[in-house]
Amino acid sequence: MTSHFPILGYDVGGTKIAASLMMSNGKVLATERFDNKDTDPAEMLARLADSGARMIAGAGFKNSDIRGIGVSTPGPADIPNGIMTRPPNNPKWRNVRINETLSNALGIEAIMENDANAGMLAEWFFGAGRGCRDVIYLTMSTGIGGGIIAAGHLIDGTGYYGGEIGHTVIDLNGPECGCGMHGCYEAFCGGRAVALRLQKELAGRPDHAIVKAAGGNVTDIDFMALETAVRQGDAYACRVWDEIMVRNAQGIGILINALNPEKIILGTIAWAAGDLFMEPLRKYLPRFCWQVSLDGCEITTSALRRDIGAYAGPAIVLNHLYEKGLYDPFVQS
Ligand SMILES: [Zn+2]
Repeated sequence: MTSHFPILGYDVGGTKIAASLMMSNGKVLATERFDNKDTDPAEMLARLADSGARMIAGAGFKNSDIRGIGVSTPGPADIPNGIMTRPPNNPKWRNVRINETLSNALGIEAIMENDANAGMLAEWFFGAGRGCRDVIYLTMSTGIGGGIIAAGHLIDGTGYYGGEIGHTVIDLNGPECGCGMHGCYEAFCGGRAVALRLQKELAGRPDHAIVKAAGGNVTDIDFMALETAVRQGDAYACRVWDEIMVRNAQGIGILINALNPEKIILGTIAWAAGDLFMEPLRKYLPRFCWQVSLDGCEITTSALRRDIGAYAGPAIVLNHLYEKGLYDPFVQS
């Protein structure tokens, strides 16, 4: 149980795919990246399998040494059957049987998880969540994905839709969300939703600080342009930022009272903005959860940051082995 072993992972995004071979202790042996724009799925899967075989041989292993292939995928997907059903940004990928194809090509079992759960597992095994039994990860990127470890296990739910924290409705009168509901947490705080809101509200205002921060075009406004204008002290940007932080506290406060986690790990937007994000979040949280639960919860940012994708696939394999009783993250380093 104490020796380390090699695992293979793929982080399949809408536009990029990362492949990684690493040891179970987090030592990275090899990584490769692929552009996934306008690619044919059969051709891409063949390239991914070749990449896996190349990395395994390059590290001096045989395929039979590899304890599993972890596949991190954006939703929607048929997780238990390892099928990517309809990934965003790539219309050619419809009902692609990823697990079966990679598994047959390499002779290694493949396991799939959605990308937010895979991010949680990556932080749990290799990052800021190591050793925790009750910990939550929020992606805080274009959308707000969530992964929950409760009582030492990942919460997949009965249909593998567990952890969809970003689609908790926090205001019945809120903006429409990409999922079709109104007032989801993500519709207030997701990077894409915030950008669309600003683009609408600043139409016809080319000299506004946020538009200038985006390079002059209203349609190029993104979350980073907002952050830049906030740091410049623009009054409108600061007001919007404050509204977003109240909503973040609301979404995260619900989690703290519902699950009483020892740690909450926040992804991209939070670590990129730093104290500008964390200070107002901490200020507003007592409005939305009990102080006693808040006192026991460390709120922190991702340790793996932009490398999280490389750890996501291998972490899926470790969790699979853990749930089968073949690996113990609480004993091994
Ligand atoms: Zn939604």
